[in-house]
Amino acid sequence: MKTIGILGGMSWESSALYYQIINEATHARLGGQHNARSVMVTVDFDTIEKLQHADRWDEAAAILHEAALSLERAGADFILIATNTMHKLLPQIRKGITIPFLHIAQATADTIKSQGLTRIGLLGTRFTMEENFYKQILIDNGIDVIIPNADERDLIHKVIYNELCLGTVESASKEAYLEIIARMERDEAIEGVILGCTEIGMLISQEDLTLPVFDTTEIHALSAVSEALQ
Ligand code: GLU
Repeated sequence: MKTIGILGGMSWESSALYYQIINEATHARLGGQHNARSVMVTVDFDTIEKLQHADRWDEAAAILHEAALSLERAGADFILIATNTMHKLLPQIRKGITIPFLHIAQATADTIKSQGLTRIGLLGTRFTMEENFYKQILIDNGIDVIIPNADERDLIHKVIYNELCLGTVESASKEAYLEIIARMERDEAIEGVILGCTEIGMLISQEDLTLPVFDTTEIHALSAVSEALQ
């Protein structure tokens, strides 16, 4: 079994989900008293979040690069950056590191393609929805990516940072997210929706929707288990 390296703390709420999914899935595959071999480095999200919103990405990259080096030194065989947004900094984070990174957008694209879908809505932070670092990978895999309108993006972003990353789950926010998805299904003919932020699964899940839901936390964590047990 390979050792999974988790670059966590963005937020710790979702890192806890990664840890749980990875261990439960490993146990389901291997039985007995098995769990996953893993190491996790948890950064302090207060620092990271402030750097993001102050547009000081290079400083955030330096912190995450150090964290990734620690994972390599601790014996990880490969690394998961346990957030969609910080894949923006993957080129800087991975510099000089020899073990592979499992990309969350690539794992998501592979899952969508395996279901034969091509027109997908993307919910995430403003960075993930509006910039190209994430969407381009989906597009390169033949997926048409539809993002919410400006007001909707603003609401989604605020709920992520002001509620979900702090462990707060509000029913009004859930309703708002579901309305946005319904609007995109009606007006944009999306065939599925990517929960492209690792905390959104705390708010909505497949049980709330008939439309196929792609929860990136679950997809990323399960791809790590497949890699570890290969
Ligand atoms: N966990 C979130 C994501 O998947 C947002 C937190 C962050 O900015 O890293 O994008």
